[in-house]
Amino acid sequence: MSQSITRQHFDEWMLPVYAPAPFIPVNAQGSRLWDQQGKEYVDFAGGIAVNALGHAHPALQAALVEQAGKLWHTGNGYTNEPILRLAKTLIDATFAERVFFCNSGAEANEAALKLARKYAHDNHGAQKSGIVAFKNAFHGRTLFTVSAGGQPAYSQDFAPLPPQIDHAVFNDLDSASALIGDHTCAVIVEPMQGEGGVVPATREFLQGLRALCDRHNALLIFDEVQTGVGRTGSLYAYMHYGVTPDVLSTAKALGGGFPIGAMLTTDRVGQCMGVGTHGTTYGGNPLAGAVAGRVMALVNTPEMLENVQVRHQQFMTQLTALNRDLNLFSEFRGLGLLIGGVLREEHAGKAKLIAQAAAHEGLMMLIAGGNVVRFAPALNISESDVTEGLTRFTRACERYLAGGSS
Ligand SMILES: *Cc1c(COP(=O)(O)O)cnc(C)c1O
Repeated sequence: MSQSITRQHFDEWMLPVYAPAPFIPVNAQGSRLWDQQGKEYVDFAGGIAVNALGHAHPALQAALVEQAGKLWHTGNGYTNEPILRLAKTLIDATFAERVFFCNSGAEANEAALKLARKYAHDNHGAQKSGIVAFKNAFHGRTLFTVSAGGQPAYSQDFAPLPPQIDHAVFNDLDSASALIGDHTCAVIVEPMQGEGGVVPATREFLQGLRALCDRHNALLIFDEVQTGVGRTGSLYAYMHYGVTPDVLSTAKALGGGFPIGAMLTTDRVGQCMGVGTHGTTYGGNPLAGAVAGRVMALVNTPEMLENVQVRHQQFMTQLTALNRDLNLFSEFRGLGLLIGGVLREEHAGKAKLIAQAAAHEGLMMLIAGGNVVRFAPALNISESDVTEGLTRFTRACERYLAGGSS
């Protein structure tokens, strides 16, 4: 008989890098989820902006099961139909002419940064190796990407770190301009900082970075791991801003819950990565290709992107209304279905307590640092699920204000 599993086992068996919620989810459908005790939750976390089509979407199940009956994996000594179809879909839908597939956002950014170094070295010489990134940025947890990230707490314990990465202030063009020069090979930026507090870039900032990169022959890398695949109401956030990068990383929602990442670039830039210069065993496997292909087909439609905009408006209207009574938040911000609520100063640092109170009330949600609550629900979430989730959120805020999170 198989062993019965409790949350306690996590603390006994797992490397203690996470502090998961006290319940264990076992089943989910759409934007609702149930734990071991059968308690129901509305899902505003979306697997951290991953489950673009909610849980157990029938078309994704069908794509996965169909491909599982045909071919799972061959390694990159062979290519396969689903991944080539997905590549063509991404190329047709974006600025890209070349695609590299991997398994996560960190790997997509790792590929982007390595590409930038090699492109600069090949075309301009080894001295052109500087990378400019931004404070509070998040790019993943490999050593290179955590060093590019702008939260020293995530990187300092793993020193020595890769050198020649400088951090400017996000949304501050003067600060970026002071660091970008002819020695710069790339600028990496999130069009909207996700983990860093749900902070959209201004259009002028991204336009300014584009101009600085052009002036200094540096590649502009957009990390769209969190903002990509419809999250902002555009297929990619660069389309919303009207600023086109040279390299774009995408992951999270791309697989709708199945692990896959991709780096997109132009033919001119991508040519420098010849045979053998980069790779990964699982990258581009047919299972991921089949599922992500179906995700793209379902997300990149006017109806789905319209729902993201309409639900955004609903969130903003209802959050503003509930905050009139609660007076907990100073601001709600974000694009599409990536929305942050900034706690007023007297509640600074308490976002986690509100998220814990939310679980008690049957709501899964996220935080982005200590001061911001974050919502990243499925892109196809219904009007009634948003309303029900925000009713539970109101109760969670009241519970927090009454002094209890659990
Ligand atoms: C989540 C995230 C990553 C890292 O993705 P993983 O799949 O966890 O490696 C990188 N960049 C951004 C903007 C993210 O939100």
